[in-house]
Amino acid sequence: MGKPLGDYVQLWVMDPETRQQKPCEEPGELVVGGFQVAKGYIKRPELTAFKFFPDPWTASPAYRTGDLVRCCQDGEFEYLGRVEHRVEVRGTRIDLSSVEDALAAVPGVTSAAAVVRGDPPRLLAYVSPRAAQAEAQEAARSMRHLAPDVIIAVEEWPRTSSGKIDKNRLHELDATGVLAGSEGSSPKAKRAQRMFHDEVTDETGPGNESDVDADVDADFQGVARCQELARFAVEQAALCDGLPRAVQVQAYRTGLVVFNQALPGTPELPPLSLVPSPVPSGQLQHLQLLAPIFSRLVDRVSCDLRWLTKCLAPVSDPWLCRLLGMAQEVYGPGGKDPAAQPRLLLMRQDYLLGGDGRYRQVEINTIAVAFAGFTEQLSLVHQHTLAEAKLALSDAWPLEDNTPSTDYAAALAAAHNEYMKRFGSDNGHAPRVCFYCFPDDFLEMDQCHIESALRRLKVPTFRAFLGAKVTLGDASTGGTLLIDGVEASVVFLHCTFCPEHFAHEGEWHSRKLMELSRAIKVPSLLGHLAGAKRVQQALSRWEELSRFLPPEDAGRCMSVFVAQYDPSQPASAGAVENALERPERWVLKPQREGGGNNFFGAALAEQLRGNDLSQFVLMEKIVSPSMPAMLLKAGVATSVEAVSELGIFSAHLAVDHEILSTVGGAMLRTKASSSEEGGVCAGHGAIDTPLVVSEVGGQGGAHAGQIPAEKCLLLVCGLPGSGKTQFCKALADSAAKFFLVTTWHHLSYDSPSRTERETISNRVDALLTAPGSAAILLDDNMYSSITRAHWAQVAIDKNCAFHQLFLKAPLDLCLERNSLRPSAVPDFSIRYMAEVFEWPQDGTWEGQHSMMLNAQETASQQVDSFLHHLPAAKFWERVRPPDTALPRKDAHNMDLDLRKIVSLALKDAKLPKLAMPVLAKQWSTRKAALVAESQAKASAADTSALRHEMVETFLRSCMADVSAASVRPSGNRIQASRRQWRKMAKRLR
Ligand code: ADP
Ligand code: MG
Repeated sequence: MGKPLGDYVQLWVMDPETRQQKPCEEPGELVVGGFQVAKGYIKRPELTAFKFFPDPWTASPAYRTGDLVRCCQDGEFEYLGRVEHRVEVRGTRIDLSSVEDALAAVPGVTSAAAVVRGDPPRLLAYVSPRAAQAEAQEAARSMRHLAPDVIIAVEEWPRTSSGKIDKNRLHELDATGVLAGSEGSSPKAKRAQRMFHDEVTDETGPGNESDVDADVDADFQGVARCQELARFAVEQAALCDGLPRAVQVQAYRTGLVVFNQALPGTPELPPLSLVPSPVPSGQLQHLQLLAPIFSRLVDRVSCDLRWLTKCLAPVSDPWLCRLLGMAQEVYGPGGKDPAAQPRLLLMRQDYLLGGDGRYRQVEINTIAVAFAGFTEQLSLVHQHTLAEAKLALSDAWPLEDNTPSTDYAAALAAAHNEYMKRFGSDNGHAPRVCFYCFPDDFLEMDQCHIESALRRLKVPTFRAFLGAKVTLGDASTGGTLLIDGVEASVVFLHCTFCPEHFAHEGEWHSRKLMELSRAIKVPSLLGHLAGAKRVQQALSRWEELSRFLPPEDAGRCMSVFVAQYDPSQPASAGAVENALERPERWVLKPQREGGGNNFFGAALAEQLRGNDLSQFVLMEKIVSPSMPAMLLKAGVATSVEAVSELGIFSAHLAVDHEILSTVGGAMLRTKASSSEEGGVCAGHGAIDTPLVVSEVGGQGGAHAGQIPAEKCLLLVCGLPGSGKTQFCKALADSAAKFFLVTTWHHLSYDSPSRTERETISNRVDALLTAPGSAAILLDDNMYSSITRAHWAQVAIDKNCAFHQLFLKAPLDLCLERNSLRPSAVPDFSIRYMAEVFEWPQDGTWEGQHSMMLNAQETASQQVDSFLHHLPAAKFWERVRPPDTALPRKDAHNMDLDLRKIVSLALKDAKLPKLAMPVLAKQWSTRKAALVAESQAKASAADTSALRHEMVETFLRSCMADVSAASVRPSGNRIQASRRQWRKMAKRLR
């Protein structure tokens, strides 16, 4: 800085705290004295008192510059920074200006500011322009002790009257920034999220922002499309006079009723939506694919008592603490090993659509999950409604095969069977599945639907209520659970989820006996605790989540999370501060289930100012775009602007390995957008089902128009060794227009690594977008090694619905029946592919361009005749718009049933392999009729039984064909296999 100018100016260095002069070379605050120094600030006495003080030698005013300097031996002053910038964070004293300088030096950053706030202090940095935030974040990683806790992007700086950055007003910019630096956003978590974001949005390569923007735009358009459809559906419904009555009749008929008072009360309809509400198909599919990952997560958490204890012990809620204490008594040292117990989770994962067109998770319900029964019935009612209102929408359809109660029943049956397999009825009792409920439950009928589905599966059930006599058999029986004298194989808890259910000490005792018993609990105490709000908040942090899931799955889960905080933790100070200033952006949740307990707005701020914050979770609010809906309450239909919460049902049965993990349908709870809470029981929402909106077709679909229309996809299939690969290669060589996809089988599809999946994804993109190529050849040799699950993963990565992976390219098929074997070649592999890719299963594609090539010809001769066979005009004609033949879920599932039965039959009855294709062929010719028949018959609740019956009839009728097709098992074996099939069909039921 130089030296003072003569005697007119006196400069010295002092300790800013003690005001003692500092010796040479020691850093301190620069003070200016001398007669030129002003007397103070006009009208700012406090500031004057702080900055000016009497010079100790002359008593004339001296001025504290705030500059941190050092006086060198030669009398020169060296500038070191600003005094007020010296702060202590994370136990180290740092200079804020060094942080600012380091950030300002990052390429792209034009200005930066740093401040410290909160208790304990957190280092917050602000950078401008917005676009440079990512670079600043990247650079911050190498800034070590100077690394800010949070970097906030600034569009426009608040300035003082003299044009400097006004640091006192920087907190006004925090809202965005605090979220950016949430607890769940360590650099590692960020990377994973970013990675996932790139994976799902980036069509051409990582880091291409314009593509990300394009994708976000597409999601926005998806929302707009949903809103448009909702409006149309509501308008149509309003025009249909008799609709409310028709819906009520159907709802009563299917048992969609609640009892608002103790019996004998009058049954009433719960609040319902008259027409289903739109959900973008890609998003729905994405969440369905995430469901088993979340199931696995909750199951793993429920096996880790130590982690649960660490997480929940600090929570002050006495009820939760006592539950935790009980869990420790049962599963703690010397107790049961949770991972060795058979356990069943019946869950519902709830989501709200964010303004960006993507769903974000609200919570996972692990106990007393409601609405599986009603959803299944309402789905049928809604199909009826749409038909009644003549609401045929070309690119939207009610979610088909939406059968959560049947699926829950199947999982309960599997649990009951597991119990029977282990213990049978070793003490003369006949064990049953117990529905343990509280009296006069509003949702009793909802549960009854599951119970009757279970009875149809021939599993005996009974209902018991809080206060029932619960006893544990003696040790010799290994802990038989008797409820009201009946042995329970499985206890399905519809109560004990809130403190009110433990009004008497006896209930604590009963609950403990249940946990100690050998009965399978739905959920176990640990499964219940794993669903606690605090646990979900903890799991929203990468560090915790990645304990239980591999990084890829954890990254997927993170992509649907919003920020959650434990407001009692010092690290959450920034979020709490923000919530106090902007309560409308947050939700405060106590450790309670069942809706109606959360705090919003002013009430939230009030709670946050209270003392005991450890029982709460502070969660970023998901602001959903509203859509018109027609809600039916107390017999009156009203059109409202509404918001829908999407619930995905899932089931997970495990012992030391996973026995069963299923995704069972989806529901919506639709509420007026003016209401914050969504609980139906709490009187806020109406039960609703999804109207799945295609993102392929229609206007503004997510992927519409991305793929050049002239592409087509050729599938080449036949028996192993039939020369498909040769043919494909020759075809690819002969015409540059063909792209050959045959090398895929070199990749390991069963356990694909991220790199492998990326390769596949990129390859798909390259093939679909490469200029000059007209067709993609798919050599079916991949069918043997790929798995459905794997392709589902690719679909997640590409953020598109499963079938869209290949529907992006209009489909053309070549059935290559070029077998070297004499017998008729089955078209089984193409069915397999069709199933894997969810191609339309109605047979419309079959035969169009299929041909059998002459086995005697060489590959190049075959190519000639192939090209000759397919007249050019017809070949390139693109007739089928991608959305006209979306997979019919019924047909699809029946195929799956068939596949399961047939493969079990082949395995168990040792039928020759060729029986499979023959059956598949039969199926393909008869399916349309069978499906039509099933739809005609499908009434109410019995679809699964009906389906089973049809598959069985079909199989029986096929037996003749099987034997005729030179697949002649001995008479005995046919008998055996028939029995076998019946048995297996039963098992499926
Ligand atoms: P519970 O159902 O156990 O009471 P939830 O977490 O589901 O607890 O919260 C109840 C309701 O509060 C939800 O159905 C939803 O309407 C609303 N809600 C909860 N979390 C959020 C959030 N993060 N953003 C917006 N609304 C929320
Ligand atoms: Mg909820």
